Amino acid sequence: MTASQHPAYGLLRPVTDTASVLLCNNPGLMTLDGTNTWVLRGPGSDEMVVLDPGPDDDEHIAKLAELGTICLVLISHKHGDHTDGIDMLVDRTGAVVRSVGSGFLRGLGGPLTDGEVIDAAGLRITVMATPGHTADSLSFVLDDAVLTADTVLGRGTTVIDSEDGSLRDYMESLRRLHGLGQRRVLPGHGPELDDLEAVTAMYLAHREERLDQVRGALRELGEDATARQIVEHVYTDVDEKLWDAAEWSVQAQLDYLRS
Ligand SMILES: [Zn+2]
Repeated sequence: MTASQHPAYGLLRPVTDTASVLLCNNPGLMTLDGTNTWVLRGPGSDEMVVLDPGPDDDEHIAKLAELGTICLVLISHKHGDHTDGIDMLVDRTGAVVRSVGSGFLRGLGGPLTDGEVIDAAGLRITVMATPGHTADSLSFVLDDAVLTADTVLGRGTTVIDSEDGSLRDYMESLRRLHGLGQRRVLPGHGPELDDLEAVTAMYLAHREERLDQVRGALRELGEDATARQIVEHVYTDVDEKLWDAAEWSVQAQLDYLRS
């Protein structure tokens, strides 16, 4: 068998013994190559657990529904590129959907809770609250890997949601993930990574470095400087197309430093 590479659209690509990815064809600035829909199946199980249906993309949802019997759909967080396809998938399969917030629950599974251990499709999946990217962000711990959704991406760094994200929560979540040690990372966007411990250490160092830059900018521009002024001062190494996103990040950093 030859291993296929990320990105590969429209085909279920095995990544670990129990996790495969179906990459949605919705590439973009914030979605990287597209949304990773994870399909989990224990050895010998004829059922599967799906993490994140993805956007309301007919082709993607149809492909997903064809893969087999879905015993449970898990939702990593509220963003539409992970959740807009829920009802299309439920219409086709009748699958039970579980999440933190009530808005995405379908069927009788009930809300997910931090530390809960799910037994499904021949797997043990531990729910881990990792707020920060959004308030409802979850990661899911498998024996040999962690599904990190948008908390740790396969490439680049995560944006803190301007509505309910929190840099303080985010950094605490990264520390908790770091504490899980060396495991594979199965992210919500971008390719899988080999070492959770290394990538979370890198993310934390990057955030500390950015915070130092913002502290420096505040010293130069004055304590009342706006997020935009700081972006234009600090993010000179970043494509200008990303400055709006960077502005949210800087606002999160200012909130962190001013709180
Ligand atoms: Zn997201």
